[in-house]
Amino acid sequence: MSTATTCPYCGVGCGVLARVDADGAVHVQGDPTHASNFGRLCVKGAALGETVDLQGRLLHPMLRGSDGRLQRVEWGDALDRVAREFRRIIDEHGPDAVAFYVSGQLLIEDYYVVNKLAKGYIGTANIDTNSRLCMSSAVAGHKRAFGEDVVPGCYEDLEQAELVVLVGSNTAWCHPIVFQRIAKTREAGAIKHVVVIDPRHTATCESADLHLPVKPGTDVWLFNGLLAFLFQHGAMDARFVDTHTEGFAKALAVAEAEAGDPAEVARICGLQMSDLLTFYRWFARCERTVSLFSQGVNQSSSGTDKVNSIINCHLLTGRIGKPGMGPFSITGQPNAMGGREVGGLATMLAAHMELDKPVHRDIVQSFWGSPCMAHRPGLKAVDLFDAIGEGRVKAVWIMATNPVVSMPDADCVKHALARCEWVVSSDIMTHTDTNAYAHALLPALGWGEKDGTVTNSERCISRQRAFLPAPGEARADWRVVCDVARRMGYAQGFQFSAPHEIFLEHARLTAFRNGDIEADGVPVARRMLNLDGLTHLNREAYDAMTPVRWPVLADGQGTTRLFSEGRYAHADGRARFVTVASRMPLHATDCEYPLVLNTGRVRDQWHTMTRTGKAPRLTGHTPEPFVDMHPHDALRCGVREGELARVCSRWGAMVARVTHGGGILAGNVFVPIHWNDQFASDARVGGVVNPVVDPISGEPEFKHTPVRVEPF
Ligand code: SF4
Repeated sequence: MSTATTCPYCGVGCGVLARVDADGAVHVQGDPTHASNFGRLCVKGAALGETVDLQGRLLHPMLRGSDGRLQRVEWGDALDRVAREFRRIIDEHGPDAVAFYVSGQLLIEDYYVVNKLAKGYIGTANIDTNSRLCMSSAVAGHKRAFGEDVVPGCYEDLEQAELVVLVGSNTAWCHPIVFQRIAKTREAGAIKHVVVIDPRHTATCESADLHLPVKPGTDVWLFNGLLAFLFQHGAMDARFVDTHTEGFAKALAVAEAEAGDPAEVARICGLQMSDLLTFYRWFARCERTVSLFSQGVNQSSSGTDKVNSIINCHLLTGRIGKPGMGPFSITGQPNAMGGREVGGLATMLAAHMELDKPVHRDIVQSFWGSPCMAHRPGLKAVDLFDAIGEGRVKAVWIMATNPVVSMPDADCVKHALARCEWVVSSDIMTHTDTNAYAHALLPALGWGEKDGTVTNSERCISRQRAFLPAPGEARADWRVVCDVARRMGYAQGFQFSAPHEIFLEHARLTAFRNGDIEADGVPVARRMLNLDGLTHLNREAYDAMTPVRWPVLADGQGTTRLFSEGRYAHADGRARFVTVASRMPLHATDCEYPLVLNTGRVRDQWHTMTRTGKAPRLTGHTPEPFVDMHPHDALRCGVREGELARVCSRWGAMVARVTHGGGILAGNVFVPIHWNDQFASDARVGGVVNPVVDPISGEPEFKHTPVRVEPF
């Protein structure tokens, strides 16, 4: 008997059928009924059964004693201590002296209760998530353009398009099942052109008709140039622009002024003029165009502007809200979008409401009946760890993430945690780079053990179901948060006894006073995140829930595509062109640091490898950390292929083996994000990455750090 569940890795959100043998072995296969993957799984998903053993698992709560050693304790003692330390610090220093740093690995139910505790009960918005590192620029871009953080389309649009533009996305490795759907449709001739825009010649380029190896940081020039070209060549949908948008004239004026000449755009972007014009002409001609973008766009000091420069081109041509067209942000993590829905970012409230809107705060507070609402946005990830390092934040609860590896300027994060008065880590593993600094370790449930929901990149809510027993004394994160909340004196809002009760409350909040209230006489826009049709699920219906894309209407039907009526979430119902002016990354290369460091994923690993590092067939693909560089650069740096080299920036250094052949442009190097001190010493690339962030989204610039490479 198989259990229908969802893959815990990337934002594709594939359905999985999992079965446990009599001997305890876990077997998985793709769920043929799940509309995100129709039975397919990539190599990571197919190896899930090899990653669920208990080796290295954290199985009991632990507290660090006065001798600095971790000691096993009873759950009651651990929960009492966590609650007591948080309460003490709040009483002494105020609610903003505590913080939570959570993860796109959490389920919606976990995310919901921890947000409720922080924002509605403690009264701080100092709760951010590792999703800040991956797609917060897309969130900010969506909100500016559409009035709400909404992905308009769905995966089917990729199969209905004539032109698919993949921007800053190694889709073949990072979202393999979406890539397979594109490649299969292209082979069948339905997709006419696939264009890849990426400084690297990645595996994704193998199936592309055109690869534009754009110079890092120049994407806004490229898309402002496209906007000007589309206008000049009659591709504008004037009726759509007049009826459904605002801000066109100014956005076009800036685009034409800085990027009206394709020859100049080609020069700035480092592209062949003929290639640039081919892309522009295909975009102008192909009515059904999808622009799928990912971390190469988002992880930039101008990431939000890059997102809006892409969306602007779809608004100009009216290519949004219809089959086979639209801008499409694909998320990195399985529940990055679900976290956004329940307010997982320091800048948001639950149900897509805004912390800085009094009327939204009032809606959430009255729904929760909460005693103390956060009233301003909290600290975003990089600022949050800076505040810990400076002693402004004195307690932090980290859940399902490893910031000592994954944050930029990660050595600063390490030092910040070392100085922090009270660090709690909820994790499935005992030994991680972050857990080394924790005062309390709380054992969490992993994939196959936990039960709840996730939302993937196409707004599809799926169930993650348990099919394995809880190991040792591990507990669900939502339950631990509720236990701590009650011990802190918040008995009222945390009496949940099962995940379906939390999901139900979340669904009801999305529908609560949605669109039917006014503030100061100004109508409040109806929010698109609406789970009206899920507000009456009982336990059996929740257990049997099948994947559904939100908004979920009162009749229980999901929504394939948004904006088909041409109505957006801004109060006037119109989408916004956002005027974007190009700017280069803050830190330029120089004589001391002449190369640009780009970071990203490899095909068979996931984040800091706590799970994928267990499967031999996954580790075989890329067995160790590497720095991929152009042979000419290697020669200049005095390093050779196969040798170890040190990659150094102003922020730190790491060691990796030199490789060629990763399709890197001269002047650039690429290092994967996965390795850490548990697998290889001095292998944390996070320690090298500059902590510059996008001023709007707060997303770090992982794709552009000046470095030098030297012999080890
Ligand atoms: Fe899992 Fe993503 Fe692979 Fe699907 S494509 S099986 S969600 S890692």
